[in-house]
Amino acid sequence: MSVIETRREQIFPVLDAIQIAAARRFSDNEPRRFQPGETIFSLGERNAPAWLILEGEIDITRRDGLNREAQITVMGPGQFTGEMSELSGRGTLAAGRAGSEGCVAIAFRADQIRALIIGSAELGEMLMRAFILRRVSLLQDVGAGSVLIGQPGTPDLSRLQNFLTRNGYPCTVLDVASDPQARELVEQTGVTSADLPLMVCPNGTVLRRPSNAEAGMCLGITPDLDLAKQYDVAVVGGGPAGLAAAVYAASEGLSVLVLDQRAFGGQAGTSARIENYLGFPTGISGLALAGRAFSQAQKFGAEIAIPLEVAHLDCGGSARRASEPLRLELTDGRSLYARSVVVASGARYRQPSIPNLDSFEGAGVSYWASAVEAKLCEGEEISLVGGGNSAGQAVVFLAPKVKHVHMVVRRPLEATMSRYLIDRIAALPNVTIYTGAEVIALEGDETGALCGATFRGLDSGKLYNYPLRHLFLFIGADPNGDWLAQRVAVDNRGFVITGRGFAPTDEPVGRDPLPLETSVPGVFAIGDVRAGSTKRVAAAVGEGAAVVAQIHSALSPV
Ligand SMILES: Cc1cc2nc3c(=O)[nH]c(=O)nc-3n(C[C@H](O)[C@H](O)[C@H](O)COP(=O)(O)OP(=O)(O)OC[C@H]3O[C@@H](n4cnc5c(N)ncnc54)[C@H](O)[C@@H]3O)c2cc1C
Repeated sequence: MSVIETRREQIFPVLDAIQIAAARRFSDNEPRRFQPGETIFSLGERNAPAWLILEGEIDITRRDGLNREAQITVMGPGQFTGEMSELSGRGTLAAGRAGSEGCVAIAFRADQIRALIIGSAELGEMLMRAFILRRVSLLQDVGAGSVLIGQPGTPDLSRLQNFLTRNGYPCTVLDVASDPQARELVEQTGVTSADLPLMVCPNGTVLRRPSNAEAGMCLGITPDLDLAKQYDVAVVGGGPAGLAAAVYAASEGLSVLVLDQRAFGGQAGTSARIENYLGFPTGISGLALAGRAFSQAQKFGAEIAIPLEVAHLDCGGSARRASEPLRLELTDGRSLYARSVVVASGARYRQPSIPNLDSFEGAGVSYWASAVEAKLCEGEEISLVGGGNSAGQAVVFLAPKVKHVHMVVRRPLEATMSRYLIDRIAALPNVTIYTGAEVIALEGDETGALCGATFRGLDSGKLYNYPLRHLFLFIGADPNGDWLAQRVAVDNRGFVITGRGFAPTDEPVGRDPLPLETSVPGVFAIGDVRAGSTKRVAAAVGEGAAVVAQIHSALSPV
């Protein structure tokens, strides 16, 4: 049963007369009358308000890239239109038309909806739940969002699928080899195999092998940025640390911009199941946890811009006064300004030195194991390298779905993995552990896809060769600090030093550095990118909360 069927009352709550009167206090707009069939909001429209219906009905429909339209529901008096997109000004995923008798409705802009959600505990909970569940139902039900046409398992199609899934955008994948509708569209548009995958956006735009940035623009995931604005806080990285900083800073009234080059959730967003985060005794998928944090940050008004990559931090040199803004330069050449910057850019997966490894990325080699990868390797033999907790989680997640897991580790698991994961792996009948071994070679087939791997025993020199199409690498991470280009002090591994750990500077602000402050006043570092941090979700979230008090203290006049 779909979410809409099981939780209809929560997805489409009806406000009573007292609740309608309470909600109306948050909008300064006059009620507006719409004629029968008149468009109230269109698919993909940015900054569309949410509407509270006072009389009549609104027909809510969805459409996919192939122009297949379907009715989602009919809303009546006391109901609010909208879902998560309306909180942040992103492109809408549904369209609304006045019903056969027309309707009267009152508009709530994004800031008014946020004020209502925060200002009224009862209505806030009801609306927030409805908005989140509406997005979940759009993700579950086929027929909303964009259509990707290509060959499943190819690098660009996997990249786009991952990008959309990780950002909570619905999409349908059509196999160009077997789906007649997909083949027809490819023939009609005259594209070659080099143009695949095609991405057909709900507004009808067809993109040929788009980059994530192009896909984000077309779908309205990337918000319009006000380049003239000076934010109180710019957070680089939308992982647990960055999102926590955004929630605490925005809820305390600071203007916040979060930039992420890929998706919200960072590394945690790629985790199949996080079992040691406080408050979730049965565990929670990284994507679900990150999705909640993302919604929470938006509720408090943090702006979140994805996928945008920061290329440089410009601190203005030693002559910079504390009152002057810091500049962040994006890889697309644009600049953004903020009074403080939080470095929350985390870490990236380490690559073992295997010749030709790069050529198999997205063609059999993965650095995370989400539902997308699990589907691709269903029923097959796979190999997984790494002995840390993230490797253990991936084995536990993948083993029930695949034929066999060959797990390659340098040291005994007891040295690197939590006991609960070691016990779970021991109970899995289809996992073989090669302790004291490493992967030394990969083979590809005529299409360039992975088709085999060779392991070698470190002491014995014994070689094992297996035909396999999927290799997962979980061998640790290095800091994502290239964009800082030596502007802040780092340790010998590139992790950012905070507090008094760096060499004394002339301290132009006339105070000691704060515990999470870098060698540049007003620039803070939190989470995995920070030297000495505990590489865990809870630690990253804790630092995200703690840094806000320090930002207040840095921004207040001495
Ligand atoms: C598979 C896996 C499973 C895990 N499981 C657990 C677990 O069960 N429990 C636990 O406690 N921990 C777990 N961890 C560790 C945990 O996920 C990390 O400690 C945590 O995510 C760190 O958060 P962070 O915000 O500091 O950095 P990250 O999560 O690394 O996020 C950093 C973000 O910054 C972005 N970014 C980087 N550079 C730029 C740039 N120049 N411009 C814009 N954006 C940029 C990245 O795209 C990324 O989204 C796991 C990690 C992995 C990989």
